[in-house]
Amino acid sequence: MPTLTDRFTKILTTIADAAKRSGRHPDSIGLVAVSKTHPPEAVQEALAAGITLFGENRLQEAKAKIPLVPGRARWHFIGHLQKNKIRQALPLFELFHGVDSLETARDIDRIALELGLFPKILLEVNVAGESTKFGFRPAKLVEQIEDLLSLERLQIEGLMTIPPPAPNPEHSRKYFTALRELKDRLESQERLPLTHLSMGMSEDYAVAVEEGATLVRIGSALFGARSGKTWRPSTGELLDD
Ligand SMILES: *Cc1c(COP(=O)(O)O)cnc(C)c1O
Repeated sequence: MPTLTDRFTKILTTIADAAKRSGRHPDSIGLVAVSKTHPPEAVQEALAAGITLFGENRLQEAKAKIPLVPGRARWHFIGHLQKNKIRQALPLFELFHGVDSLETARDIDRIALELGLFPKILLEVNVAGESTKFGFRPAKLVEQIEDLLSLERLQIEGLMTIPPPAPNPEHSRKYFTALRELKDRLESQERLPLTHLSMGMSEDYAVAVEEGATLVRIGSALFGARSGKTWRPSTGELLDD
């Protein structure tokens, strides 16, 4: 059985190889270890292996887990943020990957003002235009980008996408390319730097790095398969999402 350290080492090698193939420096790619459904002990094991950045997609689970992990861990929120959860979520995470509509962005901006915060966010793009998915359609984002940029509290740091599930990672490549091109277009249109492209998960992160990912979000390849359930504290406290 490979240990977490073995899996981490393999992921770093894969990232470094993919970076080299596309003429990039491996240090320009950050690993977000997706710890959703896994207990705080798994996060501590990862910390001991040298991983410091973690991703969670459910607020209630993260809220219970974060206080049980030593302070060295940094946390990103990678899920869809519901309006009634924004106030609780803002102080916990250093980057929000899944800001998926102008309405949500406005809600975050308004609550951030009340809380005295300047949240860093990524705009989630539904590159494939799937009707079931959250996220800005590319044309919509181009249309709404100035409204988004006018929100004074939000620090828009880049774009994020989740491509449609595919049996072969090569199938994701065109969506990753499209996200990179959209970032380039917005940067030149608005004369601003967008630092991050959050793209690539356990099955397709090598392709994502080749196409310019600066953040890859990796869960099962690092922590092993998920049971599908959210983690709950042993107090049996009910989680409402
Ligand atoms: C769960 C999740 C991941 C990680 O998925 P794996 O396939 O386990 O690597 C990445 N991004 C988001 C948004 C997720 O919800």
